[in-house]
Amino acid sequence: MKTLYRQFTVATLFILAISILIGFTIANIFYITVTKEETIEQNVGIAQEIVATVQNVPYSDEGFDGYMQAVAKLGYQIALVDSSGNMKFFGEPFDDTSFPDEAERVLTENGTYTGLDSFTDQIFMIGHFTNELHNTVGVPFERNGENYGLFIRPDTKLLGTDIHSVLIGFVVAIGLVSIIGMIWLARQLTRPIVQLTEATKHIARENYNYPLDIQRNDEIGQLSESFNLMQTQLKQNDLARKSFISNVSHDFQSPLMNIQGYADLLKSPDLPDDDRLAYTSIIDQEAKRLSSLTRQLLLLTSLDQGAYPMKTEEFQLDEQLKAVVRKYRWRLEEQDIHLSYSLAPVLFRGDAELLDNVWDNLLTNAIKYNKPDGNIEIALQSHDDKITVSFKDSGAGIPEHAIPQLFDRFYRGDAARKKDGTGLGLSIVEQIITLHHGHIEVNSNVGEGSEFILTLPHPDMIQT
Ligand code: ADP
Repeated sequence: MKTLYRQFTVATLFILAISILIGFTIANIFYITVTKEETIEQNVGIAQEIVATVQNVPYSDEGFDGYMQAVAKLGYQIALVDSSGNMKFFGEPFDDTSFPDEAERVLTENGTYTGLDSFTDQIFMIGHFTNELHNTVGVPFERNGENYGLFIRPDTKLLGTDIHSVLIGFVVAIGLVSIIGMIWLARQLTRPIVQLTEATKHIARENYNYPLDIQRNDEIGQLSESFNLMQTQLKQNDLARKSFISNVSHDFQSPLMNIQGYADLLKSPDLPDDDRLAYTSIIDQEAKRLSSLTRQLLLLTSLDQGAYPMKTEEFQLDEQLKAVVRKYRWRLEEQDIHLSYSLAPVLFRGDAELLDNVWDNLLTNAIKYNKPDGNIEIALQSHDDKITVSFKDSGAGIPEHAIPQLFDRFYRGDAARKKDGTGLGLSIVEQIITLHHGHIEVNSNVGEGSEFILTLPHPDMIQT
């Protein structure tokens, strides 16, 4: 596998190599256009000064040689050529002493020789450092009536001063520090990615407790924060899923056990009629509970899928509420509950079948959790920008601490455990109201009763 770390290191070294190449090319262009000419002029100038001195001062042969040696010590390689081609050298020896043809003109035509100009075939500025007689500047001079040529070049070894060593050290240090720095940076960048990869593997194995401790203030830090957030969310979802399965299994298991138990008892041939009737009615109740549980679960699942196919239609909301009340008239009478309503005529646009579930749930709760001889008030009001539907009962009320959990799946209040129910009703109500872009509020006082207020938006509603 091509690791990110390796790619980063290779890319860095490649960039370094390219920058050296570009830097060298720019330096070379600068040398060819500016430095080279200046160097030639400077060297010719020095050679002419040497020549002027030896021509003006009548040195003896020893004095002349001594002078040349002194000049060579100052950092020059010197070749002295007479008209017969005899050569005499001062300073560091040349690697190649072959006399270039172009240099003849110094002796024959009194001209100047600039060897560097002839190094056009050399790559870049390397010619500048070639230790050959070829690579010199030559000027003519006369001494004791004889023509000579003086050929000099700066001795690059001697010219390598302390400052050059310092500069080379500086450049090498920069190079080394950059390479080490880049490698360190690559490691810093790739380490959290490796950690993240490891963490995703743990999540794939449903381990949501893998500690991912990346403390950084950059994008990788943000990524790790989001990852931790996702891990927490997945953990919660996993817990919710497990508790949902366990609740569903439990809620199916208990009515099934009751049905099985009472069905066994019914098999007894000498069972009194009263008992038989009581057992049959329990089996009937439990079967109804199972059926309602399945119906609610199916509804919740289809709502959960997000893309519930809403069958939007126009209908009289007040009429729908009246129909729900009519449906439960017998239960109200049975429990001596007094119901009153005030319903403004509202032509609503929405899914009538889903909303029927909402009113059904709210009304059955208001009956179920009411006290005997209690009251229920239903109000439908139409405002400029919204409509509100409220169900108010005079039941046991809901303790404040329970209100935040009221809409959770399978949540059932302590008092509710004695009554039949699934704990799914209000979560279905909330989902349906959200689908209709509305919201639900609860006001409740323990011992006094509760009020569920639904607000639905105006745009989907046409008033009559
Ligand atoms: P359930 O099937 O238990 O009625 P719901 O989701 O409809 O499930 O309600 C959840 C819980 O909210 C109930 O168990 C009950 O404790 C409480 N609750 C709902 N409506 C009322 C109400 N009108 N008065 C008092 N408590 C209520």
